[in-house]
Amino acid sequence: MTQRADALVLFGVTGDLAFKQIFPALQRLARAGALDMPVVGVARSAWTDAELRAHARESLAAHGGVDEAALARLAPRLRYVEGDYQDPATFARIGAALAPAMHPLHYLAIPPSLFATVVEGLVAAGCANGASVVVEKPFGHDLASAQALNAMLHRYFPETAIFRIDHYLGKEPVENLLYFRFANAFVEPIWNRDHIASVQITMAEAFGIEGRGRFYDEVGAIRDVVQNHLLQVAALLAMEAPIQRSPETARDERNRLFRAMRPLTARDVVRGQFAGYRDEPGVAAGSQMETFAALRLMIDTWRWEGVPFYIRAGKKLPVTSTEVVVDLKRPPLTVFDPVNAGSGNRFRFRLSPDVFISLQARVKAPGERMVGDDVELIARRQSPDQMTPYEKLIGDALEGDASLFASSDSIEAAWRVVDPVLAGMPPPGVYAPGTWGPRDAARVVAEPDGWHNPTLDGGTP
Ligand code: NDP
Repeated sequence: MTQRADALVLFGVTGDLAFKQIFPALQRLARAGALDMPVVGVARSAWTDAELRAHARESLAAHGGVDEAALARLAPRLRYVEGDYQDPATFARIGAALAPAMHPLHYLAIPPSLFATVVEGLVAAGCANGASVVVEKPFGHDLASAQALNAMLHRYFPETAIFRIDHYLGKEPVENLLYFRFANAFVEPIWNRDHIASVQITMAEAFGIEGRGRFYDEVGAIRDVVQNHLLQVAALLAMEAPIQRSPETARDERNRLFRAMRPLTARDVVRGQFAGYRDEPGVAAGSQMETFAALRLMIDTWRWEGVPFYIRAGKKLPVTSTEVVVDLKRPPLTVFDPVNAGSGNRFRFRLSPDVFISLQARVKAPGERMVGDDVELIARRQSPDQMTPYEKLIGDALEGDASLFASSDSIEAAWRVVDPVLAGMPPPGVYAPGTWGPRDAARVVAEPDGWHNPTLDGGTP
């Protein structure tokens, strides 16, 4: 843990992320009494403090509603500093607005090309002393650029003062993967290669690139969601139990697991591109960028030797849903049902849009014959009050708790996994919008039942 922040500086306060996520999170933190420090917003637009406060109100009205009591706490704390990040005078003004704070938290909600400019500006103006920094995604474009970014940050900040956002780690159902595994004694004995045949993680989006062609065409599915969000989910499913209650030990175990992930080869990956992608504004005419990826990840530990983790993400698929399916091994002999009847035992963790955990099992079908049916026991929980990822993560960063942030080691290890398949791959297979990706995606999965496609009625996959 690093020390609690006594001021929050929002670089990029006029931007899209601040409007959609950060102001709503600040309102929730203010309501919870967790935001008792000045909040200084910095951007180029010629705004006043009053305009920043009006903008905050607009953001809240558009994202979940204004809570007048919470906004009355938040608004007086908001200050605006106008200036270009290339201009040293901007940082002198930030320093003046921050006095007498000793431990500011600088949140870089800005284009990644400006991360170094802002950090160096802060250092030159003396605003980095005793400070910590939140870095938005994407953290690098490949292994080399992530290493360079880590090296730059480490020149000025200790690792404990660097908070790299992966908002997936702030999601309740994602945290629950870890909780469920280690808070229930029946899980641990079967959570290994003796009992688990394979694991599938699917992040399906029914929508396309929504006007973000220029951004997406430089990134693609593997960089956008696999390297970060889905490998983090795999790490939570596969890591060992933290040895103590302290937040650092959970992060240490996650780091260890990342190091055991085997780098992908071209044979492990099938890429796809939805038909019509190249006609989207901002996308290059002959673009070979993937909007879909299906891959087989192996984890080289005693626990997981030989157990494939199948990961799949794509745009313009039939549904929007993120789901984990853990397939248990079949019984050694089929004594009741016909051979290969039913689809086996499995756990299913729905992470979005709804949240549930289910156990699929076979039970005897009513009637004289000793044959079975698949049934699914679903535990569903809905809580309108649950914390949003940004509320959780900003709150943790203000407290100095980095356990739900990506470490330099894990980020570099995750890039090491995907780096070999970021370039020099065969062209992506074209798939029709509304389908489960290119035909070849089926060949990634060796299991008899193939991919388990999420359905939106909560029914059997
Ligand atoms: P925007 O382009 O909407 O906002 C950029 C912000 O940076 C604006 O406030 C802009 O100020 C400011 N800015 C840019 N250049 C300068 C400069 N030279 N000097 C001063 N201010 C500058 O970006 P987003 O909000 O969309 O994204 C911010 C970060 O968050 C990025 O790293 C992005 O990858 C990440 N992110 C965004 C998500 C989203 O949904 N938007 C989702 C996940 C991550 P002004 O306009 O006043 O000039």
